[in-house]
Amino acid sequence: MELGVARRLGTFHIKTWHGNTIDINPVECAKLGYINAAENELLCEECGVRIINPDSWYQIMESHAKGCKMRRFEMFDYEKILAFQEEEFIRRVESFREWQLFPILNFSVFGEADNEIWSRFFKEFPIIEIDKALALFGFSAKDTEISCKLCGIKTKLPEYTIKVGKVINSSSQRDSIGINQQFDLVKAHRFYCPFINDLTVSDLSYLSTAPKSLNFGWRFLLSKLTSNRPNIDFILSSTAKNLEAHRSLLNSFW
Ligand SMILES: [Zn+2]
Ligand SMILES: [Zn+2]
Repeated sequence: MELGVARRLGTFHIKTWHGNTIDINPVECAKLGYINAAENELLCEECGVRIINPDSWYQIMESHAKGCKMRRFEMFDYEKILAFQEEEFIRRVESFREWQLFPILNFSVFGEADNEIWSRFFKEFPIIEIDKALALFGFSAKDTEISCKLCGIKTKLPEYTIKVGKVINSSSQRDSIGINQQFDLVKAHRFYCPFINDLTVSDLSYLSTAPKSLNFGWRFLLSKLTSNRPNIDFILSSTAKNLEAHRSLLNSFW
């Protein structure tokens, strides 16, 4: 189970947290010790204070009981977050084992890291194993949904999917799948999710649409999984059936 700031962040869900202001956002609340305990309600588990519908950052900072240790920010440290560890990555990959249908991915994000790195991650890059790609970006399968534990997003399978084992074999088929129907590994998360944003910064720069840092969760995990080893595949059973599905789709990208 996640501990500390990452666990608290995971308690904020779309249904129970509607705060949309920039300063009262789940990241800052979690750093300052709060969980989202009920609809629009913050709870500090240390001192027990509850704040319903907070309207200012000052209120959140000052509501802790005197002497509560959460009066100080707890910063994100990706090394300590379970979701960015190898074991948890493997667990996410395995959660897709029973799945027959996978979303058609939007490939633009794969241009953001060197092909050399990708080829250490995907066995036959530029062919992409969909379950590994989803797991790298924090998604796992739960019931009929794809979800991220850190930002709480849950998404139903999109209408256009790839059936495992079936080769999608014509560019016309790809063209008929509009960009809006492709599963975007980045945009599927909420804007503040540590998988797609750098929450280790101490300012609010992670809210910028053009963050300066490249220390995103998926990059952190990717470099962890690909350093000092020729190919990550030795820790995972082959997912060759998924490879086929994306083969021809990718051919037109590289
Ligand atoms: Zn407190
Ligand atoms: Zn997320």
